[in-house]
Amino acid sequence: MTTTDLTARTELVADPNSGPAPGVTGRQPTPGIEEFCAEAAALLGPDGVLRDPAAREKASCDWAHMSPILAAKLPAGHAEAVLRPTAHEQIPGLLALAHQHRITLTPRGKGTGNYGQAIPLHDGAVLDLTGCGRVLEAGDGWIRAEAGAKMSDLEAHARTLGQELWMFPSTFGTTLGGFLSGGSGGTGSLVHKTNSDGFVQELTVTPCTADATPFTVQDADALPYIHAYGTTGIITTATVRLQRARTWTGLFAAFTDWTSATAALDALVHLEPAPRLASLDEAGLVRVYPPDPALAPTALNLRAIIEEEAADQARAIVRSYGGEVLDVRPAPDGPALISSLSFNHPTYHLMKAEEGWFHLEIRGDVLLGDTTEIKQVFPDTLLHLEGMRSGTVGMLMARYQGEQSVYDGITALEALGVGVHSPHNWYVDRRLDLVRETARTADPLRLLNPGKIPAPSQETP
Ligand SMILES: Cc1cc2nc3c(=O)[nH]c(=O)nc-3n(C[C@H](O)[C@H](O)[C@H](O)COP(=O)(O)OP(=O)(O)OC[C@H]3O[C@@H](n4cnc5c(N)ncnc54)[C@H](O)[C@@H]3O)c2cc1C
Repeated sequence: MTTTDLTARTELVADPNSGPAPGVTGRQPTPGIEEFCAEAAALLGPDGVLRDPAAREKASCDWAHMSPILAAKLPAGHAEAVLRPTAHEQIPGLLALAHQHRITLTPRGKGTGNYGQAIPLHDGAVLDLTGCGRVLEAGDGWIRAEAGAKMSDLEAHARTLGQELWMFPSTFGTTLGGFLSGGSGGTGSLVHKTNSDGFVQELTVTPCTADATPFTVQDADALPYIHAYGTTGIITTATVRLQRARTWTGLFAAFTDWTSATAALDALVHLEPAPRLASLDEAGLVRVYPPDPALAPTALNLRAIIEEEAADQARAIVRSYGGEVLDVRPAPDGPALISSLSFNHPTYHLMKAEEGWFHLEIRGDVLLGDTTEIKQVFPDTLLHLEGMRSGTVGMLMARYQGEQSVYDGITALEALGVGVHSPHNWYVDRRLDLVRETARTADPLRLLNPGKIPAPSQETP
């Protein structure tokens, strides 16, 4: 690696909009990479294979730098080449080529994953799918697109048909394939739960085998490919579920005490017609958000995307729990602002404003009650909640005091009844047995995103 490469990587660490800098590999080029790139260029054209340092650096990072533990520990990985197909039909040829030359291949959407999922730990080629971005077709209740299509394009297309996505993440510009392979849920999950809960109708998947023949899977058979970080095959197209489009509006409210605010959150979650999103956060988070008259930086803030026809009911709920309605702002601005402050975006705003924080993904209705003990586990704890009909989830942010204190704190939180998912781990950690079994046939040479399926001894308890 050259000095230029090192500089670029250092700059990427300093920029919260870019990825982590886990170090440099110091590895030798992968044997066969030159022949592989030459043959890939014959398939994609010369612009389809990028070898310049800037493109390789960009393709070697994601948002794992939000974790101080990952930023310090994540093994180095550096793309030796970036492949940019422009149509899903080109993908099987590339996978057959990777198999033939034994080149590792890490798929990539927009690179907004939090756990280092898109970092090519074993170097090799990165398969950038953002050029495969066509929305292919849609019908009543479904939409089919190439894996690199933006979730925002899917929602916009669905809206022209009087429909909308069941869900989309707060990183609205991310790709369909990246959301299914690396994400979990978002706006819409209040009712529809996660992207593993029926959102996917059909996937076309390309395995990394000698002939790399794509196959389709439907409904529950799609589970081995969801949140599997591309280790079980490359999703080339996906069909996901739509619902009738609603007229949404954004409700913004302020509260002075946690018990009233969480009671109002819970009541909004169970409102009929159902909201699309309902979030609550503490003043310590709101103070770092971009200022807006609908946000109160010294209060607990409750926000919900509700159907316009339910606005009066929602206002009444807020008032009945002693809150103040700050604004009811129609679409697109109100709902867009609320989505943009959901899930991991509060963490992003906090870390952008100040150094020294870490976060945990938390869940459990215990978060709706007295959180005094929960907030004593880590120093300066701040809570952000997402109301779900399947149970409350959220983010806990606190001052970082070292890796071991995070693990000790997780144990203490669990003892208080808080479910914790650690974002400080780059391994696939859902349906692991299914993923391992599927990868055995879909990727017999273990070329797809290697290093992300843990050996049994590396599994987190
Ligand atoms: C500030 C912030 C907020 C976030 N909010 C949310 C949220 O609300 N909800 C949520 O679920 N997540 C959230 N995330 C995480 C991230 O946005 C999601 O994982 C996202 O949807 C990933 O999409 P992407 O296109 O960026 O994929 P990438 O990060 O590029 O890829 C994600 C994973 O999928 C693999 N992959 C990509 N494309 C394919 C494919 N076609 N086939 C097989 N594997 C593939 C990659 O190798 C990688 O392992 C957030 C992240 C940040 C930084």
